[in-house]
Amino acid sequence: MSNFAVLQLSGCAGCEVALLNAEDWIDRYRLVYMPLVITAYDVPAVDILLVSGGVRSDEDLYNLRRAVKKAGQVVAVGTCAISGGIASLGDREDVREHFTAQLERRHLPTMLPKCRPIDAVVEVDRYLPGCPPTPELFLAILFDPPDRQIAKTVCHECGRKKLRDRRPAHLTGFQEGEVLPEICLINQGYLCVGTSTRGGCRALCTRPGHPCVGCRGPSDALIEKESAAWFKSIQSVFAAMTDVPADELDAALRSPQLALFLFQFADYAGTGRMPRPKEKVV
Ligand code: SF4
Ligand code: SF4
Ligand code: SF4
Repeated sequence: MSNFAVLQLSGCAGCEVALLNAEDWIDRYRLVYMPLVITAYDVPAVDILLVSGGVRSDEDLYNLRRAVKKAGQVVAVGTCAISGGIASLGDREDVREHFTAQLERRHLPTMLPKCRPIDAVVEVDRYLPGCPPTPELFLAILFDPPDRQIAKTVCHECGRKKLRDRRPAHLTGFQEGEVLPEICLINQGYLCVGTSTRGGCRALCTRPGHPCVGCRGPSDALIEKESAAWFKSIQSVFAAMTDVPADELDAALRSPQLALFLFQFADYAGTGRMPRPKEKVV
């Protein structure tokens, strides 16, 4: 029986909960390390190491570098490990000041100057984006079926119909208004970025009526480009389907609801490093 471990860096443990919900792996894999549910002092040698969370502190850095040496394969799991996610909030000066201001916190791990995705530090074999990835996606990464197919974009899984003759003049506020079934959320003025977002989640949010905020990251067409390309793609979809002014859209794209996900390339832009190759992304 193959074994695997889960190393949790700075994140929220949501990825771990999603993995536990994907119980079908239990007959085929032995989970040997996962501090959330297993008492074990250190990561043993494993076939697969799943890493969630961003590299936010010196402790993250130490644990990550140590653990990958014992792993046959390293998988970056979730938005935090792949691009920083919520752990990147610590990059904000006000958050950093708040964290370091209190004397009694001095025994906590030291925050690094910037939160980094794990592939800024170690080699990553595969990537599983999502916040968190769904249980089904966890099974796809563990079982790696040869016939696995991931929908190109969330739109391909959504089933809502895009209409030509329904062009909203302004955005409907986040979680405001009534959502009509079956009609594309963009036609209803919602800021849905499913057109440019990688599929695989089965349109978990959009089918019941919540706009996609892009947690699965950019689709294959955009994944090897910088963040500007993702923004441009979303802007051209809205220009084609709505009459929402460009500045209104731009302000909404940078709002807190979307900022954690739409800045998924921030760590690559300007560093000279290549963004994750699409062949490695599930
Ligand atoms: S990717 Fe999302 S669910 Fe996973 S640790 Fe980060 S914030 Fe939590
Ligand atoms: S609601 Fe969003 S995901 Fe669904 S079709 Fe419209 S843009 Fe695509
Ligand atoms: S619909 Fe969008 S935000 Fe929701 S799970 Fe899928 S990719 Fe993430």
